[in-house]
Amino acid sequence: MPTFIPVNEPLLNGNEKKYLNECIDSGWISSEGPFVGKLETQFAERVSREYGVAVCNGSAALDIAVKALNIGKGDEVIFPTFTIISCAAAIVRSGAVPVLVDSDPITWNMDVNQIEAKITPRTKAIMVVHIYGLPVDMDTVLMLAQKYNLRIIEDAAEMHGQYYKDKPCGSFGDISIFSFYPNKHVTTGEGGILVTNEEHLAARCRAFRDLCFIKERRFKHEELGWNNRMSNLQAAVGVAQLERLDEFIVLKREMGKLYTSILSGCNKIQIPQPSMTYSENIYWVFGLVLDENLGINAQLIMKELGDRGIGTRPFFYPMHLQPVFNKMGLFNGESYPVAERIAEQGFYLPSGLTMNKEKIEICANTLLSVLSEK
Ligand SMILES: *Cc1c(COP(=O)(O)O)cnc(C)c1O
Repeated sequence: MPTFIPVNEPLLNGNEKKYLNECIDSGWISSEGPFVGKLETQFAERVSREYGVAVCNGSAALDIAVKALNIGKGDEVIFPTFTIISCAAAIVRSGAVPVLVDSDPITWNMDVNQIEAKITPRTKAIMVVHIYGLPVDMDTVLMLAQKYNLRIIEDAAEMHGQYYKDKPCGSFGDISIFSFYPNKHVTTGEGGILVTNEEHLAARCRAFRDLCFIKERRFKHEELGWNNRMSNLQAAVGVAQLERLDEFIVLKREMGKLYTSILSGCNKIQIPQPSMTYSENIYWVFGLVLDENLGINAQLIMKELGDRGIGTRPFFYPMHLQPVFNKMGLFNGESYPVAERIAEQGFYLPSGLTMNKEKIEICANTLLSVLSEK
């Protein structure tokens, strides 16, 4: 039995150790240390933004983005049902009404053609989420935002280094966010960042990240923030990771190509679209959707792959089916058939940066052999 291939492993063999030692040697371990500012500046520049505000994780970045844009009671925000709960949580906690759209069956991103029908006089923002490797078709979103005077929050947590046409993902939102969780292209262990071009929004993000302390009197507060700061230790890892982003993207795309070449002949699965007119897939993860006609779901195949030493993760579980929201009276009776199908039939294969040709071949061929028995 070969050793287990985990669904993700970060690659930390650049300057991570060196920069971490600098933190320890200098005593700068809190958010006051110099790597935090360095990461903010370098990351913002990388995605063509003026300002970066580093935070403790990507979910916290979404909370802050919603708050910084003054979204709350009486507002509606449109976003995909097929996403991580962090998106919905930020909207629901703000007091705004979450409004869902279904997924595109090819890209698995929000179906941008369903947005306009959901816009009402109360709609304040569209939260776009780029999912798994291809960006949302931004032209339609930008047009709608302009036409109806809506804000855009861009969740680019999975899109470090990806472009939509000639512009970086993360450059489209009034505020855009990234996550630095270990399965993202750039990791800080736990971490995230908000990026924006508007100075006053950056200032609001900084305030909400730091408990809304005010200058005149320490420990006096006019608004409620969070302690969502990033430590210098985390930022040190991030700076080292960012140095290698281009290299990481090459690795991911090679992984995607190799998986595609082995799996593309199998008619029992849908594999990621290699490109759209506007972007090449960056393969944050290599996702698969099992053909419904097989009569088996992702759970079964994932179990069989696990038994053969291959780690997998299921696709997102749609927001409209989340018990936590249904109990709050949200989304009851709503139905989004594409999201429901891909959530049931979809999962992803090991896609981390430590994958190599041999491991990819093992994973892909094991999948083919499991599927050949179905
Ligand atoms: C990872 C991720 C997040 C959340 O980031 P954390 O750092 O894990 O809180 C948000 N949105 C998307 C699309 C993600 O993939």
